[in-house]
Amino acid sequence: MLYDLCLGGVSYPALHLALIIVPDAPLNIYDLTRSELSDLLVSIGVNPAHTARVWRYLYWECAETFAAMEEVPARARQALASRATIGVLPTAIETDSGDGFTRKYLLGLTDNERIETVLMRFTGRVTACVSSQVGCAMGCVFCATGQMGYTRHLTVGEIVAQPVHVQRALRAENRRLRNIVLMGMGEPLHNFDAVMKAIDIFTDGTGLGLAADRITLSTVGVVPGILRLAREQRKPFHLAVSLHAATQAERAAIVPAARKWQLDELMAACRTYSETTGRRIFYEWTLIEGKNDSPEHARAVGRLLGDLPAQVNLIPLNPTQGYDGTPTRSEAARKFQDVLIHEFGIPSTVRQRRGIDIAAGCGQLAVAEKS
Ligand code: SAH
Ligand code: SF4
Repeated sequence: MLYDLCLGGVSYPALHLALIIVPDAPLNIYDLTRSELSDLLVSIGVNPAHTARVWRYLYWECAETFAAMEEVPARARQALASRATIGVLPTAIETDSGDGFTRKYLLGLTDNERIETVLMRFTGRVTACVSSQVGCAMGCVFCATGQMGYTRHLTVGEIVAQPVHVQRALRAENRRLRNIVLMGMGEPLHNFDAVMKAIDIFTDGTGLGLAADRITLSTVGVVPGILRLAREQRKPFHLAVSLHAATQAERAAIVPAARKWQLDELMAACRTYSETTGRRIFYEWTLIEGKNDSPEHARAVGRLLGDLPAQVNLIPLNPTQGYDGTPTRSEAARKFQDVLIHEFGIPSTVRQRRGIDIAAGCGQLAVAEKS
C-alpha cells in the first residue's frame, strides 16, 4: 500500500530485530477463534472461564509468551505452553519510509518463507496492510507479488499474527490499530477459508476489536469467492474489486486471472453481491499512462458500472522491476475523475502515493530471498 506525507525528509534507519518462536509447534494459538480457544482449555484440563483473560492477553496486550499472562493461573499457563505456541512472526527487517508515515515489516515464517506487512499512518488513521499468501498465483503483469509467483497460502495464524505484530508496535505509542486492508501479498479469495476465519478473529469485540467496516478485502475478481460472499452471512467488511480495464480483451492482457473469470461473469457476480448484501463495491483501477487513463477509458468504466452502487479507487501505477509502465499524471487522473462523476455520477478517489521509497506501495510487496 502506498501513502506518504512529508515529515521534513526525516529518514529512519532500517532496524534489524529477531524474536524467538518455538519451531514445529503442535498448535498455533492464533489459529483459533475464541470459542475454539475455550475448547482447547477444556481439552487440557483448564477451566474455560479463563478464556476471556487469555484472549485479552493475546489480542489486547499482544503477549508474546504464556508466561507473560500473569493474571492467568500458573498451572493453566504451563498447560497452554505444553500444548500450543503463540505464533509471533519474527521481524527479519523493519524499514520506515523517509516521511515516517509508512513502515514495512519483512516477517519470517516457520518454513523460512517470508512475507511483508505494512503499517500506514496518515490523516489520523492507523492501518495495517496484511498479506494472505506467500506470493500470488494470479500473475497481474504490473504487480511485484504476481511477478514472484505463488508459493503457498498463509495459515489463519500467520494472517492473524500480522495485525497483532503491528498492534504490538503501536502499544508503545498508546495507539490502537483501527483499520485493516487485505491488500498485501496474495489474493485473499484464493485463500478464502483462512482469510474469513482471520476476519472473524480480527473483529472479535474483546480482542483486536476491529469494526468490520474498518476492514477492506481486495480481490482480483475471483468470481466463486465473490458469489460465496454474497451467499454467506459474513461480517460487513468492505469489498474492493480490481478492474483496471473495462473490456475483456484489455483486462485479460494485464490481469491473466481474467481469462478464467471473464469480465461479464465478474460484473454479474458483483451485481449479485451488491443486490444480496446491499453494499457498494470499491472498484480499483491502476492508472497506467497511455494504457487505461484516457477520458474514453473513464467512459467505458462508467458504462460498465452502469447503475451498480460503486466507488472507483484510482491508483497511479507504482514502479516494479518486471513492468515498465508509467504512472498517470495527476492532471489526467483528475480528468478521469471528472468524467466519472459528471457524466456517470460515480464518486472516485486517487490514492495518495506513500511508502514508494521503501517499496511499500500497492503491488510493490515481494520477497526476493528466503531467510
Ligand atoms: N490480490 C488483491 C489484493 C492485493 S493488490 C488484488 O489484486 O486486488 C492491491 C491493489 O494493488 C490491487 O488493486 C492491485 O491491482 C493493485 N496493484 C498491483 N500492482 C500495482 C502497481 N504496481 N501499482 C499500483 N497498483 C497496483
Ligand atoms: Fe496477485 Fe493482486 Fe498482485 Fe494480481 S495484483 S498478482 S491478484 S497480489
